Amino acid sequence: MKSFVHRGQITKVVFGSGTRAGLGGEVEALGRGRALVLCTPGQTAQAREVREILGSLTAGVFDQAAAHTPVAVTGKAVDAARAADADCLVSVGGGSTIGLGKAVALRTGLPHLALPTTYAGSEMTPILGETQEGVKTTRRLPEVLLDTVVYDVDLTLTLPPHVAAVSGLNAMAHAVESLYAQDGDPLAFLTAGEALDALAVALPAILRDPADTEARATALYGAWLAGTCLGTVGMALHHKVCHVLGGSFDLPHAQTHAVVLPHVVAYNAPAAEAAMARIGRALPGPDPAGAVFDFAGGIGAPRALRDLGMPESGIAEAADLVVRDGYWNPRPVHRDAVRDLLRRAWAGEPPARAASDRSYDPTGARHA
Ligand code: NAD
Repeated sequence: MKSFVHRGQITKVVFGSGTRAGLGGEVEALGRGRALVLCTPGQTAQAREVREILGSLTAGVFDQAAAHTPVAVTGKAVDAARAADADCLVSVGGGSTIGLGKAVALRTGLPHLALPTTYAGSEMTPILGETQEGVKTTRRLPEVLLDTVVYDVDLTLTLPPHVAAVSGLNAMAHAVESLYAQDGDPLAFLTAGEALDALAVALPAILRDPADTEARATALYGAWLAGTCLGTVGMALHHKVCHVLGGSFDLPHAQTHAVVLPHVVAYNAPAAEAAMARIGRALPGPDPAGAVFDFAGGIGAPRALRDLGMPESGIAEAADLVVRDGYWNPRPVHRDAVRDLLRRAWAGEPPARAASDRSYDPTGARHA
C-alpha cells in the first residue's frame, strides 16, 4: 500500500431533520450565549426563524452577506458583532454566508456555527475566499475552521430544484478532484466515492419530486462528505478553471462548476485511472466524462459558459490565467489544451473524450 498522511477534522457535525431545534444547546456547549446570526438579504426568513429558536441567546442579525465575501461587507459585520457584544457567530445559508462567517471569525476570534442551506460545502473547509477591489484571493487557514455545523435537511427544502442541481454538481466537483488529489489519502477516496454515489442518486430524485425529503437528505449527506474532502485534500485543474472564470468574468459559482466538470474529467481521464473507475461506479457509462456530461444535462444544469455570460473573446485570456500560476494537476496542463477545453465548455459541446472529434487527442497531442 502507498504511504499517506491524513489530517482529521475538528468540526462537530450534527445531521438530521429538525436538528436546528437543538442550536441553542450547541451555542451553550461552546460556552457562549450571545450569537450574531448572519444571512444574505434573500434568507432573512430563515434567519428570523433561527433567531426565534435561539431566543435570549441571540445578540442580533446581520443580513448583508454577499457573493465572494467582499471585505467591505466583512468590515460592517465585524462592527455589528462588536456593537451587539456578540460572543459567537451563527451563519444560516450557503457558501456566501458561511464565507462571511469565516471572515468575521478570523478578525474577531469568535467561535463559528453554521446551518448550511446549499451543497457548496464551505462549512467543512479551512478555505477562505475574499474579494477586495474586484480581486478574489483564496487562502487555507486553520483558524477559519468552524466549531459546529448543524445540518438540518428541512432548511434545504426551499432550495429550488434547478439550484439544488447545480449546487449538487458543485459538490460532485469537490468529490471528483479529491479522487485524484496530489495529497489524497484512502479516507478521502472512500469519502469522495460515497459522496458521488449519494449525489448521483439524490439529485435526479429531487428533480422528479422536490418534496422528496429522503432525496434531499441524501443530497445533503453527499454535500457534507464532498465538503469534508474539499477541506482535507488539495484540488486541481477544475477548481483552478472555475476560480479564474468566477474571479475574472464574474460567472456564477455553482453553475460554472456544473458546466466545466465534464470537460476537466475528460482532460484528466488518461492520468487518473482509479478516479475514473470510481466515477464510473457512481455514474455508469461508456466513459466517465460523457457520463458526467449526460448526468448534468439530465438534471437540467447549464451546459455552456456563453449562457452564463462568458464572452467568446475571454477564452484566450482565461486560458492564460489558468496556466499562469502553475499548480499541481494529475495531467500536466498546457495552454492550448485549456483553451480547447474552455472553447468546448463555452459552446456547450460534449467533452473531448465523449465527442468524435479527431482534432483533439486526450493524451495531449495536438493534430494539425
Ligand atoms: P450562495 O450562498 O451565494 O447562495 C446562492 C443564493 O441562494 C443566495 O441568494 C442565497 O440566499 C440563496 N439560498 C441559499 N440557500 C437557500 C435555500 N435553502 N433556499 C432558498 N434560497 C437559498 O451560493 P453557494 O453556491 O452556496 O456558495 C457560493 C459561494 O461560496 C462562492 O463565493 C464560493 O466561492 C464560496 N464557496 C467557498 C467554499 C470554501 O470552502 N471556502 C466552498 C464552496 C463555495
